[in-house]
Amino acid sequence: MIVTREEIKSRLQARGGEQQELFSHARQARDKAQGNRLNIRGVIELSNSCVENCQYCAMRRDNHALNRYILDEATVLSVAGDIINAGIPTVFLQSGESPKCGQLLERIIPEIYTRYHCSIILCAGKRDAETYARYKDAGAEGYILKFETANPALYEDATGASHQERLSCIRGIRAAGMKLGTGSIVGLPNQTLEDIVDDILLAAHFAPDFVSVAPFIPNSGTPYETVPKGDIDLTLNTMAIWRILFPAALIPTVSALEYIHPDGQAAGLSAGANVITINFTPKQSRDKYAIYAKDRFVVSLEHAHKTAEKAGMPLHVV
Ligand code: SAM
Repeated sequence: MIVTREEIKSRLQARGGEQQELFSHARQARDKAQGNRLNIRGVIELSNSCVENCQYCAMRRDNHALNRYILDEATVLSVAGDIINAGIPTVFLQSGESPKCGQLLERIIPEIYTRYHCSIILCAGKRDAETYARYKDAGAEGYILKFETANPALYEDATGASHQERLSCIRGIRAAGMKLGTGSIVGLPNQTLEDIVDDILLAAHFAPDFVSVAPFIPNSGTPYETVPKGDIDLTLNTMAIWRILFPAALIPTVSALEYIHPDGQAAGLSAGANVITINFTPKQSRDKYAIYAKDRFVVSLEHAHKTAEKAGMPLHVV
């Protein structure tokens, strides 16, 4: 068991044989609790408009060079149909944070749910608890809101927003009775190993249903464009420790891992992850959804099959 800060800190620094041992424990915990199947989500990126101004994200409100878009209802419904027809049981709606997108979600969730009776997961920023409750009543099962970092000063430097408010929104998701997803970024400027230990412990405090960590990716056109990318080993070790702490959680192997390292997503699975997300955003909008980097890695169904095969995990298509 990994219980103390010192144990977490030591596992974070594991490399070579010790790291392989950590990953092996993580896979055992996953397989014992859930089997080794690889779950799939299909993501639709609804809009790149955002009222927030995060230093790492090119969708930040001060990026006037970015052409903003919001998908219309008919497109979202049709793409959700493509996800279901591909045998993918979960429609994941992700978006920049904006009032218009909030309204779109209220209209589109019941339509998707009534038509497909599928699992619907959302990641669209901070809302009040009443709004999360309306999303739940409309048919959404879960909501992902990463705390990004447990360190309030780092969070406030990186986003210009209040850490307390972010945490209170995360609590609002739970209060609304939704499944909760949260997590962090590895590699924010001035982040220490102790901060990453705190990230691991903060997630444990929330006992999330889904938990994810991504390496920081320097994104052009943002104030953090010259900051070095996050460390893959620290990212994978965080995933493995979370897996050991939360055997029953869904842990995605994020596309940012593949962006910083060939076979990075297969490495995520070997560290205990069990979700891969396929991108279904229509091409012309996908290019404007400026998450991670202009040349971000876009996950296709074919890539998911190959990654599942490399990891020896059967892909869960229904
Ligand atoms: N705006 C919403 C929010 O903040 O939750 C949802 C969309 S936002 C694009 C989704 C996630 O992308 C954020 O939680 C953040 O962790 C991640 N992200 C954005 N830019 C990133 C970067 N350059 N490197 C790593 N993660 C990034």
